[in-house]
Amino acid sequence: MKNPNGHEIIQLFEQFSPKGLAMEGDRIGLQIGRLNKKVERVMIALDVLEDVIEEAIEKNVQLIIAHHPMIYRPLKNVLTDTVQGKMIEKLLKHDIAVYAAHTNLDVAKGGVNDLLADALGIEAAEVLVPTYETVLKKIVVFVPSSHAESVRKALGDAGAGFIGNYSHCSFSANGTGRFLPGDNTTPYMGQAGMLEEVDEVRIETIIPEQQLKKAITAMIKAHPYEEVAYDVYPLENQGEVLGLGRIGKVSEMTLGEFAKKVKAALEVDTVRVVGDLTAKVKKVAVLGGDGNKYFMNAKFKGADVYITGDIYYHTAHDAMMQGLNMIDPGHNVEKVMKKGLTATLQKLCTNSGYVVEIFPSEVNTDPFQFI
Ligand SMILES: [Zn+2]
Repeated sequence: MKNPNGHEIIQLFEQFSPKGLAMEGDRIGLQIGRLNKKVERVMIALDVLEDVIEEAIEKNVQLIIAHHPMIYRPLKNVLTDTVQGKMIEKLLKHDIAVYAAHTNLDVAKGGVNDLLADALGIEAAEVLVPTYETVLKKIVVFVPSSHAESVRKALGDAGAGFIGNYSHCSFSANGTGRFLPGDNTTPYMGQAGMLEEVDEVRIETIIPEQQLKKAITAMIKAHPYEEVAYDVYPLENQGEVLGLGRIGKVSEMTLGEFAKKVKAALEVDTVRVVGDLTAKVKKVAVLGGDGNKYFMNAKFKGADVYITGDIYYHTAHDAMMQGLNMIDPGHNVEKVMKKGLTATLQKLCTNSGYVVEIFPSEVNTDPFQFI
């Protein structure tokens, strides 16, 4: 067990929600403060508002991980008699770092959209708007049979060999390795200047490009040779498709019944509904945040109803004319990420032996009330 610093926590977080998944131009990553410090308490927030900063100070937090970037438009200045300037000043004075994970957390497996789909009971949810396809590589490594098992395990533990719901997939074949150790070598087998023949195993497996470096490092560590012989091949196979929104099925009910279910599941008092309340719904699409521009994706994929926030008057008209029902529970339902991310990050930290307390912000940042 160890007390991690900010970098170590963010490194774990980014394995789950890599920056590379973010949409172009999004403002993500460390926005305020520093990570090279001990972190004992992390608070997960949807928005960073004044109340949230007060909460962080009160709870002695060193790092806030927020979904909505605190700084979106580039700042021209930081004036401490403006609201934003004052907020930045407070954070810096209390040495509280702010890290934003926005569209990368929407896209990530287990991120905002998966959390919303889970809350709504959507089964076998698929991606609604593909934005990213994993690039796959093949690793082939030659290892003496005595170490084949440990090298296979190291590769599998580092994320190699994921095919569908199977992990640690690999193929091995036996053969003969030959090498001639040169001068100034300390070979694991044989001796300098003598041609050596060894029973070796050829292990092959696949890996997403972004995990390649980590897997190779783990593989070399588990391998007994001074010089490890391995190849990395580019692959044409289609990788996993990731993206915004999710679509899948719920048990059939009317639009009116489903709207009530949405209210309860996402913990809101009201929703705005577009469509005939007696219409049957079964195929359901959801997209966290403002999903106006993706309503046709929901229509094309055969959704009976599309749930998203910030629906404009004219989008509602367009959807109505296309025969697509819509439910708007508000943008703030993305608050599901607070508990969801707390659980995920706590698990990642515990598995890495990090002693750190992670908790969701309790401040309600919904600017709207209905009277
Ligand atoms: Zn949002």
